[in-house]
Amino acid sequence: MQMDPDKVRKLQQMGLGPVWQRRGQSSGESGGGSAAIALPASESPEEAAYAASVMSMDWAMLEENIRGCGRCGLCQGRTHAVPGVGDRKARWLFVGEGPGRQEDSQGEPFVGPAGKLLDNMLRALALARGANTYIANIVKCRPVGADGRDRPPTADEVAACMPYLARQVDLIRPDVIVALGKTAAVSLLGLPADTSLASLRDKIHHYADLPLIVTYHPAYLLRQPADKAKSWRDLCLAKSLLNGR
Ligand code: SF4
Repeated sequence: MQMDPDKVRKLQQMGLGPVWQRRGQSSGESGGGSAAIALPASESPEEAAYAASVMSMDWAMLEENIRGCGRCGLCQGRTHAVPGVGDRKARWLFVGEGPGRQEDSQGEPFVGPAGKLLDNMLRALALARGANTYIANIVKCRPVGADGRDRPPTADEVAACMPYLARQVDLIRPDVIVALGKTAAVSLLGLPADTSLASLRDKIHHYADLPLIVTYHPAYLLRQPADKAKSWRDLCLAKSLLNGR
């Protein structure tokens, strides 16, 4: 069902983009007949034009553009941009915050201890990296603080990079999106940065018309293993959404 135009306009006025239409229901303006994207009203014409061009890219062009991207300052310190990895027809899309040091070094998301924990979480769901799952991040290049440590991406960095994730979602069309951690959740849902993760758990959200579940980032769970049980509940909720799809 096509989204109510009034609702679309209100969401755009609130800056809560992107707003999606499912593949096959669009006006056909985006590439390959896939989902259309309406950008927030606050986007500059140049940004809107770039985002629209991204929405017409195929996988090869998308990854090439990400690897050569200079749209924000994160390009300056990167070793590798990290587009994402996995099954391009996956039912599950996991989205984290951004690459860390090891991910930047290897060019793959979620490697190292947090990646091992994510792999264990996948195994518990009878999934595996690359099999019915795709793993991506909000930003594709590593955000590094002045102290040389990983830091969350800024709002500008997120805004610059989001068209790439939007296109990945559009190409994959997963049945469920799992936002790993607060940065992923608030970026995908267009919420204020100070929104608590606790307030977002145990609910079914939507990114466009795709269901989205919020849970803890594996790096957090390594520091707070007592919250693994809560995370498992979140994943079970996500799994339950697949049953009727
Ligand atoms: S983080 Fe995203 S927008 Fe920034 S340079 Fe990397 S790919 Fe481009």
